Amino acid sequence: MYDFAIIGGGIVGLSTALAIGQRYPQARILVLEKESQWAFHQTGNNSGVIHSGVYYQPGSLKAKFCRDGARSLVAFCQQHQLPYEVCGKVIVATAEKELPLLENLYQRGLQNGIEVARLTAAEVHEIEPHVSCLAGIRVFSTGITDYRQVGLKYVELISLQGGDLRLQTQVLQLLDTPAGKVLETTQGSFTAACVINCAGLYSDRVARLDAVNPEAKIVPFRGEYYELVPDKRHLVNTLIYPVPNPAFPFLGVHFTKMIDGTVHAGPNAVLSWKREGYKKTDFDLRDFAEVMTYPAFWKLASRFADEGLKEMVRSWSKAIFVQSLQRLIPAVQMADVVPTHAGVRAQALRANGNLVDDFLIIPGHHSIHVCNAPSPAATASLEIGRAIAAQVPVPTAISIPLSS
Ligand SMILES: Cc1cc2nc3c(=O)[nH]c(=O)nc-3n(C[C@H](O)[C@H](O)[C@H](O)COP(=O)(O)OP(=O)(O)OC[C@H]3O[C@@H](n4cnc5c(N)ncnc54)[C@H](O)[C@@H]3O)c2cc1C
Repeated sequence: MYDFAIIGGGIVGLSTALAIGQRYPQARILVLEKESQWAFHQTGNNSGVIHSGVYYQPGSLKAKFCRDGARSLVAFCQQHQLPYEVCGKVIVATAEKELPLLENLYQRGLQNGIEVARLTAAEVHEIEPHVSCLAGIRVFSTGITDYRQVGLKYVELISLQGGDLRLQTQVLQLLDTPAGKVLETTQGSFTAACVINCAGLYSDRVARLDAVNPEAKIVPFRGEYYELVPDKRHLVNTLIYPVPNPAFPFLGVHFTKMIDGTVHAGPNAVLSWKREGYKKTDFDLRDFAEVMTYPAFWKLASRFADEGLKEMVRSWSKAIFVQSLQRLIPAVQMADVVPTHAGVRAQALRANGNLVDDFLIIPGHHSIHVCNAPSPAATASLEIGRAIAAQVPVPTAISIPLSS
């Protein structure tokens, strides 16, 4: 019998297990992950950016958890000698019409308590000499790290706290019994007083196993990247982002210096035919049919038809992808970039066709379901974990939380 069973060994599940163990050191904690490695899906295939929180709606969970999470993550990396760098980033306007949007972003950064500075084109060039732009803003607290390594450090610490971590254990069913929640898995049954669903791309299906309706479905969007060939990495010093279109803030390819010294360019965002489909040709009938028969998807598609089409074209045409990159750095040529890994984002979509913008954490019966944890959830992981730990029921053997 466990006090807490956490489903999903990505960065959110692991940070949750870590935070619960810190709050209730005597709690018996179980983490179940279906893959043979931790941090294998979204966490292991992301851009590695420690986001500052400049973009998010003031007052939202994303804004708060991201700003605080960036600080706590940097402190965590320092404490555990994990690689990171707070190199800052520039967001640049490349057309007149983007200048008011850039100013809005600057104001939003101030509202969110982020250190930002306006830059002239000449000041941008001092930081990023190869960028072509009209103006920019500098976001000082943006950094880079390796989230797989961060996740593995969480694993190590959970293990030291006495947590029970199981790989290759997929949760198939959840049953309410007088003894607690029974988790039926590919490796037998486990019982826990409280279950926390951090299943990422499958979080909606796991919620339904617990008779919780998240009122949204996960739609998987693949983000494909190129990387600069080694002798062109000098074109990028830090991170270079375009001004996001407010209607599609998650779109817009950018350049990211990675912590291993490579430079990634991307990602785009195309519908994936499979929830964990990393290749263009990956297909799963159930995943595909679920999206195609979800009326909300067609509402979304009809509203964003132009952008969706552009993303698809960019997915298949390297020339178009490179054209998008040339908006930021005109010197980039076709031969300068090669394809690299892709990641699949779990994005919750409501029945009305609106994307769930904020993190979505839903309480159930002796359970909590994290049903939308897109970017910047890796940055915010320590804060998300703490917030969930503050919500879980106090384990029966323990009466007082040892820390708050
Ligand atoms: C392309 C891309 C770029 C991104 N860039 C950034 C960035 O730069 N900075 C940032 O902060 N965020 C970024 N993000 C977002 C960030 O990576 C995610 O928000 C975060 O990793 C989500 O973590 P998670 O634990 O919820 O999901 P995941 O890492 O996907 O983990 C969920 C886990 O649950 C497991 N699971 C699912 N179902 C079951 C089951 N039934 N039984 C057992 N286990 C199960 C899965 O195998 C998986 O390991 C990016 C995401 C993508 C895809």
